[in-house]
Amino acid sequence: MRIIDPHVHMYSRTTDDYQRMAANGVACVIEPGFWLGHDREYPETFWDYFSHITNFEPTRAQKYGVAHYTFLAVNPKEARNAIAGKAVDGMWKYVDAPNCLGIGEVGFDLITDAEEEIMKRQMDWAEKHNQLILIHTPHQKKPQGTERTIKVIEKMGLTTKRVLIDHNTEETIDMSLACGQVTCGFTIYPVTKMTPPRMAAVLKKYGTDRIVMNSAADWGPSDPLAVPKTVDLMWQEGFSEAEIQKVVWDNCHAFFGQSPKWKLPK
Ligand SMILES: [Zn+2]
Repeated sequence: MRIIDPHVHMYSRTTDDYQRMAANGVACVIEPGFWLGHDREYPETFWDYFSHITNFEPTRAQKYGVAHYTFLAVNPKEARNAIAGKAVDGMWKYVDAPNCLGIGEVGFDLITDAEEEIMKRQMDWAEKHNQLILIHTPHQKKPQGTERTIKVIEKMGLTTKRVLIDHNTEETIDMSLACGQVTCGFTIYPVTKMTPPRMAAVLKKYGTDRIVMNSAADWGPSDPLAVPKTVDLMWQEGFSEAEIQKVVWDNCHAFFGQSPKWKLPK
């Protein structure tokens, strides 16, 4: 089974992880821009990071047979940082990189007005430039944060088929699926968020339309093999090959393939 992991921060992972992912069927990873564990002190540090994940990472991934795409953003956790606006000002030229499919992850962390401003600015640019948008939903107060995010999407009139709302749970999936044609992401984590059994239960209840799943692996407790492990469980639980392929491959193709930069063969 060929797999796309549509949210993973390879910047914080080792080369062994690329090898293990490739050996377990992961043919493509999507790397959204994120918080590095320490608030950046200079806008230029954001720009160097954007340069790193649009140059070094795709080259590194290719050595292990893994296709690598990115989304760029000033992430929700740093949206309240005093340099956030300046960092966004200098971001656009990096979005032109051949492996960058759009803007993300943007969204709410503490669900504040400052976060909403930075998110809206980036989403507005993406909408005007026909770019895809990848939205993070908050770890705390997730239903409230998701609800407010959806209100922003509706008020801005974003093209929902170009929007992915990520880190859904059983608490948010109804409202996310109801938001036009958005694609809904789920993150499988070893400690918080969804586990493989919970993910399989969601897919049994809601079916496979517009749903994708990812590892969101980073420098914290996380597992770059979370998607292949969930695929193993889906086989055990009697999902068909077509259903599994739809979630880990076809739905990703349908969403990311809206970008003219997407070159992954079907
Ligand atoms: Zn992330």
